[in-house]
Amino acid sequence: MSILITGSVALDSVKTPVEEHHDLLGGSASYASVGASFFTPVNMVAIVGTDFPKKYLELYRKHGINLDGLEVAEGRTFRWSGEYEWDLNKRRTLSVCLNVFETFQPKLPDAYKRTPYVFLANISPQLQMHVLAQVAGPKFVVADTMDLWIETQRDAVVELLRKIDCLVLNESEAREFTKQTNLIKAGRLILKQGPKFVVIKKGEHGSLLLANDLFFSAPAYPLEDIHDPTGAGDCFAGAFTGYLARTDRIDHHSLRNAVVYGSVIASYCVEDFSLTRLQSLTPPEIKQRYEMFQAMSRFEVG
Ligand code: AMP
Repeated sequence: MSILITGSVALDSVKTPVEEHHDLLGGSASYASVGASFFTPVNMVAIVGTDFPKKYLELYRKHGINLDGLEVAEGRTFRWSGEYEWDLNKRRTLSVCLNVFETFQPKLPDAYKRTPYVFLANISPQLQMHVLAQVAGPKFVVADTMDLWIETQRDAVVELLRKIDCLVLNESEAREFTKQTNLIKAGRLILKQGPKFVVIKKGEHGSLLLANDLFFSAPAYPLEDIHDPTGAGDCFAGAFTGYLARTDRIDHHSLRNAVVYGSVIASYCVEDFSLTRLQSLTPPEIKQRYEMFQAMSRFEVG
C-alpha cells in the first residue's frame, strides 16, 4: 500500500556546538518521505524553488519517491536555520523564510488521489487540510504539528484533529496544546478531540502510544554518537506510517511495531547531518536495531 506525504521541503542551515552546515536537504516532507521509503512507495506533495539542487531530486528518486506532486515554482526554496545547545534536546530557530511556500496551493495529481495511507507532515494546518480534502476515502491519516501552529492557528489545529486517525507530536507540544503537565492526561485530552491514536515523542526518552484501550511505551535507542537531531521526529512519523501502510493492518500489534520501526529509523537519522546516514541505511541494519529494541525492553517473569 502506498503512502501520500505532504509537508515542507527545505534548505536547512544547522549549527551544533561542534559543527555547522548550510543548504542541507531538509524539511518535514523530505525526512518523512525518506523514512517511509524503507517500507512502502511514497507519493510526495510539496513545493521547491528553481534554486533547488538537482542532486536532492536524485536522492529522492534513489529512494523510489514519486515526485509527480513536487511542484517547481519560480522563486526560492523554503529555508530554515537552527542552532543546538550542548544539550542537543535544546534548539533555537534562527530564521524561517517561507519563500515559494507562501503561495503554495497544491493540486494533487490524479494518480495520487486514491492513496490509502496519508501522512500530513509538519506544515500549516490549512495546507494539511487542503491536501487531505483531495484524497478520496483514505484508510488511515496521520498528522504532525508544531508549537508555531498551536500558538498561531489553534482553531485550524483543532479542526484538523477531527479529520485524522492519529496525531504525532512531541511532549512540549502536547503539554502546550492541552495545558496539561502530565503526558498521559495530555494524550487522553487529545483523543477526546478526534483522533483514535496519539503518539507523543519524548526525544532521547522514547515515545508513548495511546488509544482509549491501548498504552505502549517505547524507549529510544541509546546512541552514543548523535550529530544532528534535526528531522528525527519527521523520520519517526514517516517510518511509523510507512510501516502501517506496508502491513495494511491497524491493530495493536502493528501499531506497536510501527512505533519501534519509527524509533529505529529516527535513531539512524541523527547519526549524521541531513539525510546523509539514511542514504546508506540497509535492511539488515534496520533489522539489527529492531532486534536490539526488542532485547533492550525484554524481561523475564520474576
Ligand atoms: P524537526 O527536527 O522534527 O522539528 O524538523 C525539522 C525540519 O522541519 C527542518 O528540516 C525544517 O526545514 C522544517 N521546518 C522548520 N520549521 C518549519 C515550519 N514552520 N514549517 C514546516 N517545516 C518546518
